[in-house]
Amino acid sequence: MAIRSRKRFGQNFLTDANIIQQIVSAINPAPTDHILEIGPGRGAITNLLVGSCHLDLVEIDRDLVERLETLYPGVTIYSEDILKFDFSRLRSPAPIRIVGNLPYNISTPLLFKLFSHSERIEDLTFMLQLEVVDRITAQPSSKNYGRLSIMSQYHCDAEKLFQIPSSAFTPRPKVESALIRLTPRRNPTLVANDLELLGQILVAAFSKRRKTVRNALASHLSGEDLQRLNIDTGLRPENLSPDDYVRCANYLSNK
Ligand code: SAM
Repeated sequence: MAIRSRKRFGQNFLTDANIIQQIVSAINPAPTDHILEIGPGRGAITNLLVGSCHLDLVEIDRDLVERLETLYPGVTIYSEDILKFDFSRLRSPAPIRIVGNLPYNISTPLLFKLFSHSERIEDLTFMLQLEVVDRITAQPSSKNYGRLSIMSQYHCDAEKLFQIPSSAFTPRPKVESALIRLTPRRNPTLVANDLELLGQILVAAFSKRRKTVRNALASHLSGEDLQRLNIDTGLRPENLSPDDYVRCANYLSNK
């Protein structure tokens, strides 16, 4: 039977049994884990998680929720949009683990939402568009480095686990995917006093990534400010480390 798939919910279902097994081995569920799966769909990953941990599901597509309720009678299923989900409803004394083969259109806003709850999260294991994984893990001075790399690496240690070919899905997406693990950093070396300000500085810097830092950050910091921060004003925004940007934001918030 053909699999019905709703494009607006980014439904590309995993159908390659070996890849599904590899993903679940990477998650490595334990009986004491409380795992939240986002977008279980037709249950490709869920089938191998259920029974091996405490599992909750969040799925936006009501038709799929009905199916999931029949398949997994003991599991709590939230029939909701994860972008509107209130994480305090998950009654778990310990930080939770979050997994999912994410719809590509919500991955960036979802990551930013999850970063703001990182104290409640043990780790995130997500399948994302390869390009997004490369942006998250990019190092300074590389072409993929930008706002997403800096915010992700400020909040989490990020590890690209493995690539997944588009042939592993039905229907087959136009892009390649990769599995990534993000582990919230409990003791960051440098703490940002004002995350919103850090975000604003990053938007300014990377909307003008071809300019020098001096020009790109002119609306926030003068050349003198940058010198005080020991930042070479001739560098480009992509040459600064995440810590450099946190230092800029803290300097401004203390001023
Ligand atoms: N986990 C399944 C698999 O691997 O085959 C399905 C993955 S499919 C790429 C994405 C799933 O997320 C779909 O089931 C879709 O309905 C669901 N979804 C899309 N947007 C969502 C949202 N905002 N909140 C919760 N679930 C969502």
